[in-house]
Amino acid sequence: MQLRQLFLINLIVVLLCSLIVGFSWLVNRNALEGAGLSVFQAQGRAAFELIRAARHWNADTEGVYVPVSPDIHPNPYLHLPDRDITDNHGRQLTRINPAYMTRQISEQLEGQDVALRITSLKPLNPTNAPDEWERSALTWMEQSGELERVELFEGRYRYMAGLNIVHSCLPCHEQMGYKIGDLRGGISFSRDAKRMDPLVNGMLERVDNMHLWVWAVLVVCASVLASLTFGFWQRLMGSESVQQRLRSLVETDYLTGVLSRRELMSRLEQEVERTQRFASPLALMMIDLDHFKQVNDRFGHAQGDRVLIAVAQALRHELRKVDSIGRYGGEEFTVILPNTDAGEASKLAERLLQRVRELEVRTETGELLKVTISIGLVCNRDLSQIMTADSLLRSADQALYNAKHAGRNGFEQEQLPA
Ligand code: GH3
Ligand code: MG
Ligand code: MG
Repeated sequence: MQLRQLFLINLIVVLLCSLIVGFSWLVNRNALEGAGLSVFQAQGRAAFELIRAARHWNADTEGVYVPVSPDIHPNPYLHLPDRDITDNHGRQLTRINPAYMTRQISEQLEGQDVALRITSLKPLNPTNAPDEWERSALTWMEQSGELERVELFEGRYRYMAGLNIVHSCLPCHEQMGYKIGDLRGGISFSRDAKRMDPLVNGMLERVDNMHLWVWAVLVVCASVLASLTFGFWQRLMGSESVQQRLRSLVETDYLTGVLSRRELMSRLEQEVERTQRFASPLALMMIDLDHFKQVNDRFGHAQGDRVLIAVAQALRHELRKVDSIGRYGGEEFTVILPNTDAGEASKLAERLLQRVRELEVRTETGELLKVTISIGLVCNRDLSQIMTADSLLRSADQALYNAKHAGRNGFEQEQLPA
């Protein structure tokens, strides 16, 4: 039972520790993943600034001419009369505008960690058409006037910076209806979110390891502490039951199991007080075994003890739960009968006498022992009568004395003096 309780306590401890450490782990991981996004935003910004500078240089120089090669064809979307020229050596050259240059750079990045794309809601080149995220980012920029967006989308960090029409863009884009300051499109960068910045990745690893260690140490410490507390509590409970046992030793007569004289007197005081407050009837009996000395003398003290126990049990069985019976001395018992008037008490006295008369106690050698008792009875005369525990006891004692003198094996009743 105790092992099961200990197991349950430790299980709860482990669950609680896991809950606390797990929560902290999730919060820290989320914060670091947020930091990963910020790092990617800074990287995206820097890359965009470089691309933009190159584009401006390209636009300011009105495009650069490069030799046509298997990789570089004339740009079919660039409609300028001098797009293709031939140099002094007869080589064919084609003009590269900012958009075509950006595309060329993005092709250079194919197969790398980071992907770069030039895109627009109205692309001249259909391959520059935006994907789902780019379309929503560009639409949002157009509506809000913002020029930057960063997000974690389907497992990838996505960054988009808007491209506004500047003076050098007009020669090519004016005929499409663009004015200076309009959003022409954007340059987007993306990267697999799992392949984070090494710094953030290192910190994530540290957060994982640290939480694992904290969890393990916490579980061990909390389990030890809980087990010790449980043990301490068990001992405390144990000592409480010792206290209970001690109390019951003080309250109970060691031989017969009825109340001790001390407990009996304390209950009598309480009962007298209660009776006076509620003006109820109260009866008290003094019961003494007749010629008990002879029993001891004839059969020995141990057999006398057996008789005492048997008589105490017999008397107790005849009483109600609210009644109290205690051992007043040697072979004398006292019975407190709350809410009991003289008539009821007399009937009970008769029953008790009869019960003891019928009692058959056998000695260890099988001899039959028969005993009788005498009873002294006292009740309050009227319900408002002033009485004390002492006066009740004295009157009951007097009644018992009278019963003995009347020949024993009977009961006598005394009136409580006014
Ligand atoms: P009476 O009818 O007048 O009461 O006669 P009695 O012999 O009962 O009265 P007495 O007072 O002369 O003797 C009481 C006896 O009770 C004496 C004592 O040995 C015995 N006694 C008292 N306490 C115990 C006890 O705990 N165990 C046993 N076996 N005997 C006890
Ligand atoms: Mg006696
Ligand atoms: Mg006696």
